Amino acid sequence: MSLADRVLGPRIPPAELPCPLPAGIEVRRNGWIPRVGGWLMGGDRKPAGGVTLRRTIVVPEGAVPSESLLVHELVHVEQWRDPLFPLKYALQWVRHGYRGNPYEVEAYRRQREHAARTSNARTPRTP
Ligand SMILES: [Zn+2]
Repeated sequence: MSLADRVLGPRIPPAELPCPLPAGIEVRRNGWIPRVGGWLMGGDRKPAGGVTLRRTIVVPEGAVPSESLLVHELVHVEQWRDPLFPLKYALQWVRHGYRGNPYEVEAYRRQREHAARTSNARTPRTP
């Protein structure tokens, strides 16, 4: 078992995911990281659906991430390209809370756009 497996939890095989991910991105299941994420989100204190740590998306134990969740987390993967992202995210979280954090606003906006695109594509055309 690798160090990443021990610390971050077992990797979900790509075939079990609802959609292919860009190369180098992995999804793992973990008991405590989504709990910390849930605490940061406030509210009902349920575990977060996903937490992104650089290029690793961490979901709760037993969870199968939806395509919509992966779209949201992939925005955070992009944001992590900025080496100062963790610090900037934390500062915005302090100033604006979870939902008002501009990094989250961006992730939720792209998630909604994706949902609108895919629901249009899947709606059968009627004469
Ligand atoms: Zn988010």
